[in-house]
Amino acid sequence: MSPVRKRLRRTRESEALFVRAKKRMPGGVSSPVRSFASVGGQPFFVKKGRGATLIDADGNRYVDWVMSYGPLVFGHAHGPILSAVRKALPRGTSYGAPSRGEVELAERVTKIFPSMEKVRFVSSGTEAAMSAVRLARGATGRDLVLKFAGCYHGHADSFLVSAGSGLATLGIPGSPGVPSSLAGLTLTARYNDLESVEALFRAHPKRIAVIAVEPIAANMGVVAPAPGFLEGLRRIADREGAALLFDEVISGFRVAKGGAQELYGIRPDLTCLGKILGGGLPVGAYGGRADLMARIAPDGPVYQAGTLSGNPLAMAAGKAMLDSLTPAVYQKLEKTARELERGMNAAAKKLGVSDRVSINRVGSILTPFFTAGPVRNFDDAKKSDLDAFKRWFHTLIRSGVFVAPAQFEAMFVSTAHTARDVAKTVKAHEAGLKEAFGLTGS
Ligand SMILES: *Cc1c(COP(=O)(O)O)cnc(C)c1O
Repeated sequence: MSPVRKRLRRTRESEALFVRAKKRMPGGVSSPVRSFASVGGQPFFVKKGRGATLIDADGNRYVDWVMSYGPLVFGHAHGPILSAVRKALPRGTSYGAPSRGEVELAERVTKIFPSMEKVRFVSSGTEAAMSAVRLARGATGRDLVLKFAGCYHGHADSFLVSAGSGLATLGIPGSPGVPSSLAGLTLTARYNDLESVEALFRAHPKRIAVIAVEPIAANMGVVAPAPGFLEGLRRIADREGAALLFDEVISGFRVAKGGAQELYGIRPDLTCLGKILGGGLPVGAYGGRADLMARIAPDGPVYQAGTLSGNPLAMAAGKAMLDSLTPAVYQKLEKTARELERGMNAAAKKLGVSDRVSINRVGSILTPFFTAGPVRNFDDAKKSDLDAFKRWFHTLIRSGVFVAPAQFEAMFVSTAHTARDVAKTVKAHEAGLKEAFGLTGS
């Protein structure tokens, strides 16, 4: 047995809620990863979030590195976002008619992302990616979609093929319910492998409508684009007459205010946004070249609509979020993330397991892969020791540190995380590595 002391943690309230939830909701959850299905055990139910801390129904506190899977750059219940929503609330919750908030948010988004000459607001990242693909197909008159193994673009039918994240963890190769005739229109290339992209274009000349990519992959765990990879995609898309779609639902506003396209200096034809854009409220957006966006209804024939699109509370939250994203925010995120990475690597080195856990980080997102690395694509990521990950995860939870209950996800740093949060996490990480690899002694 490991000498690591297991702190007693009350779980009665969460357990009771989970029993009730499972009776009325599939898996007891509203989104699969939340169920802890891939690590075993039971999820905790959140009572409230504040800053970098989550408090569960039994009163346990966690340093939260999940941050709602990305949206919460400033942590939970950030003052300016709460005030903006509070101010908007008495004016009504939805109009079904245009309002000023949409114009103001659209002006901000198109200024921060110059490649997005026009933007359409939707209610989720899934909806953004699904709509952008319809637009690319409509504009090119082609049917095929090229995506990368391990990249996730939401759960629209065309994208549920080798889609990383929740699907990777649950081991579902696509999903029942996606017709094979439709899945057959989605081609899968290897991330960071331009030759695999060239081969698909050679095999399907003039038939590929769009190259869809996470410019920084974060749903197979964090994987940075290799030097030249995004430039190569831009070149191939131009040569082949396909649209280049950057899915910046995670990277947008996170790795730089203007996302990966600002960080790496590549201009895509289309961009998807979500997560941070809504400051924790449900917002997505897609946009891009004006001539492409002119094809969206009512300007053009490609149909896409939404009852709650441009929702006034969500627009207010988004505006407050974007206005809070100053250069100092990115400096702080980088500093905290660097210290976290450094501390976690030092713990692994101290225990002599540096060759068994490999951290990938881009700015404020990082993933410790339980494999030697380097992790450059989904095949590399899948070499991870998932049993070791499980033991590590449960040690962290017992130590009051919440990370996503799955290997193929990211840790999200916020400005609310303090040096103390980092120190507590590094300590839990060390205990977690001992559990993961069955190291005895101290
Ligand atoms: C989360 C995510 C989506 C889907 O967004 P939802 O709001 O969950 O529908 C799409 N693309 C990427 C890259 C994501 O990380």
